[in-house]
Amino acid sequence: MLPDIEATSGGVPSRQPLKALPTTSTRDVHGHTIRGVAIDPQTRCAHWHSPLDIIALLIHCCGDWFPCYDCHQEATDHPATVWPFDERATEAILCGTCGHTLTINQYLTCESTCPACSAPFNPDCTTHAHLYFQVD
Ligand SMILES: [Zn+2]
Ligand SMILES: [Zn+2]
Ligand SMILES: [Zn+2]
Repeated sequence: MLPDIEATSGGVPSRQPLKALPTTSTRDVHGHTIRGVAIDPQTRCAHWHSPLDIIALLIHCCGDWFPCYDCHQEATDHPATVWPFDERATEAILCGTCGHTLTINQYLTCESTCPACSAPFNPDCTTHAHLYFQVD
């Protein structure tokens, strides 16, 4: 995981009143409606916003696109379900750079590089694959 580069620079942060949770919103990215928190034009979000965090995922339970699992949890009121093995031919991953959609199989074997535009994906995402896909 990358360090948070938004750390305060100078001065001790003073006690703030509790902020309201960030509100979820939608954004159209390459023709897909993405739901989540603080989505940028390449599908980064409030939770994952390094230069490499450029994929969105179609979440199995609602069939909607989200930048990440946490965005799904904040934008909906139900637990996410995972894509079963026999649905790995589903195009469930969106490259936020070029708009190419990958099947789950393609994503799990692409070695964190978009097969269409060669943009690098965050390799850490594959360690969270079990949140989205049925794995071994
Ligand atoms: Zn859902
Ligand atoms: Zn998120
Ligand atoms: Zn791409």
